[in-house]
Amino acid sequence: RVVVVGSVNLDLVVNTPSLPRPGETVLGHGFDTVPGGKGANQAVAAARAGGACAFVGAVGQDGFAAQLRDNLATAGVDVTRLRSVPGPSGVALIAVDTSAENFIVVAPGANGGLTRLDEADKALVAAADVLLLQLETPLTAVTEAAEAARAGGTTVILNAAPARSLPAELLALVDVLVVNQGEAATIVGRDDEPEALLTALLDLVPRVVLTLGARGAAYADRAGLRLTVAAPRVDAVDTTASGDSFTGAFAVAWAERGATPGTAVAGVAAPEAVVAALRWACAAGAACARRPGASTAIPTRDEIDELSAT
Ligand code: ADP
Repeated sequence: RVVVVGSVNLDLVVNTPSLPRPGETVLGHGFDTVPGGKGANQAVAAARAGGACAFVGAVGQDGFAAQLRDNLATAGVDVTRLRSVPGPSGVALIAVDTSAENFIVVAPGANGGLTRLDEADKALVAAADVLLLQLETPLTAVTEAAEAARAGGTTVILNAAPARSLPAELLALVDVLVVNQGEAATIVGRDDEPEALLTALLDLVPRVVLTLGARGAAYADRAGLRLTVAAPRVDAVDTTASGDSFTGAFAVAWAERGATPGTAVAGVAAPEAVVAALRWACAAGAACARRPGASTAIPTRDEIDELSAT
């Protein structure tokens, strides 16, 4: 089982011919409200990818809350530990241009109230195979979740998004770090080639997955395994949630095939299992990029299997 502790937002999405510069107004077209948030998206991605998945998070007490809760439940995510807190739900303002580039502004709302885990949350985390974390909720609860995972022998996968530097006490609890190039550069404090970023990140965590957009993903671990997997070629129309689709599918694959439970920093993941997990995750990211929208574009297990077989 995968447990996600993280954010849940309503994405307010417009399409635009070009992204506005500061102070500029552009005339867009189309408007949609789509459930999102990196935590919820990755939980939906894990559930659609066929994994048993539970979500720990918070929605507000407003008109958006029911839509957000229903979306997770409909995808098959266990929402027993989704709390309802006073105030607004989290929202994200998203603009997508004709070349599928996007910008995103998040107003955390209820997500900002997820500062602590209670005992039931910790028990859920400790009993899971994989804990999947992001950085859209307060670091106090993210770190508490990672501690509960470590204590219970649950593998901790941290998707360090959105980009920020990370405290040493959280990094010390991470089994697998999943980052894109921008996030990697923020953590190591400089931009560099993927190979150099991987090397620098291995000083901080035992295993790193570096996503490379249309080029796929690279992996490195302290046991000396290093490899790159190409993404399937697709006509990308909207890469919103591609990273979330990748990460959710990767967590399921890691739980099913590659997991090295416990604190075994030196634990060796079989190369074939790593390649299989990355291929499958790349197919999930690519499948998501083929469709417009965020969580609505997250692929099912059948779609991932089909694309990864090509
Ligand atoms: P993020 O969206 O978090 O910045 P990436 O852009 O690296 O992360 O995308 C995550 C994953 O989604 C990639 O590793 C890849 O598998 C897939 N992906 C993203 N964009 C494309 C694309 N244009 N074509 C195929 N796959 C893509």
